[in-house]
Amino acid sequence: MRKGTAGMLAACLALAAFPGNNGRAESERQAEAAAYAFGASLMEEAAEESSLFDETGESPDSAAETEPGAVPASAVTPPEAFRLLQKGSKGDDVRALQLRLQELGYDPGTPDGIYGSGTKEAVKAFQKRNSLSADGIAGQQTQDRLYAADALGPMAPAESTDVLAGEWPMLTNLEYPVGEGFVPADLVLMTELCDPGLIKIKYPETQAVRTAVEALVTMLEAARADGITKWQCSAAYRSYAAQEKLLNNRINSYLKRNEGWSRGRARRAALRTVAEPGASEHHLGLAFDVNVPGTSAFIGTKQCTWLHANCWEYGFIVRYPEGKQDITGFTPEAWHIRYVGREHAMKMWEEDLCLEEYLAQYQPAEAEPAGDQPAPKEPDQPGAEDEGETEPEMTWEEADG
Ligand SMILES: [Zn+2]
Repeated sequence: MRKGTAGMLAACLALAAFPGNNGRAESERQAEAAAYAFGASLMEEAAEESSLFDETGESPDSAAETEPGAVPASAVTPPEAFRLLQKGSKGDDVRALQLRLQELGYDPGTPDGIYGSGTKEAVKAFQKRNSLSADGIAGQQTQDRLYAADALGPMAPAESTDVLAGEWPMLTNLEYPVGEGFVPADLVLMTELCDPGLIKIKYPETQAVRTAVEALVTMLEAARADGITKWQCSAAYRSYAAQEKLLNNRINSYLKRNEGWSRGRARRAALRTVAEPGASEHHLGLAFDVNVPGTSAFIGTKQCTWLHANCWEYGFIVRYPEGKQDITGFTPEAWHIRYVGREHAMKMWEEDLCLEEYLAQYQPAEAEPAGDQPAPKEPDQPGAEDEGETEPEMTWEEADG
């Protein structure tokens, strides 16, 4: 059984790569048991998983800073013999795996001994968190880590954004800025989820919150079914630092174009089209600037018409609509949509309310605005010197709330 031996060697070598693994002795015991109990093919799987892991070059120790002794002993007895478990597997060992996942804080669904989609997702989350190759298959390494005393539970949820927690949409504007340190949970690269045939992501590094990107894809698939194609996303998540940079660029361009303007005046002018850092919706990772590739106008395109008529149904709102400028504080932006979830979006659409109005009207008074929000601050009011100034003509390329 040469292949099996090689496989076992690979598995053991991989285990040796866990110097801080308190469950190592047990892991070795399990690896030995596995080598006797199972055939070459299973061991190859394990070896394959090891090599995948090795390629990442990551050590699980970087994440494992658990205090020794801080972890309560597991109440779940690991199965006596190793068996590769994956979607479709059934049995007591699957149930043990589910119970252990649950014990650690993952959600595999009801521990029914059936390895379904929920269990697979929970295994993936566990693998990701424990620096294993996240394929959703519980091979040797995964099970070794799972039953190890220092197995890592899910990350404490990052500051989650409103709708993702099933709450009221988070309000972000000049009055309620987001804290500088706010980073939304579950940011993904848009290019990972968006087929370029459906929407062009203008800057490939653009990130956004997964749920919002998924809703965007669903919406644009519906648009395509209606014959509306050729979309582009020019902006989504924007960090505090990126917002600061954008504002400074805009202030400087006003100063350059208008001799004699004070910095304060240039700043006030800039703030009409660029959000104050922390006040940008883009900080939430739930807003997208959507337009048509190759054109700077968006209003008047069939894409814009479709978007404004249909986005609500997919959980999006046109965040800075016409006629609400005094309330939102922003010049209308036809291209800027914000994900709030279908229920809220539909209500806002039915009653023609912008987010500020909607929350003022419906959010229970005792509920504080969601999120990491300091006390309201006075928005910058345009000074008398700005009166009579014509609004700059804007396109999605230069404006951004
Ligand atoms: Zn925008």
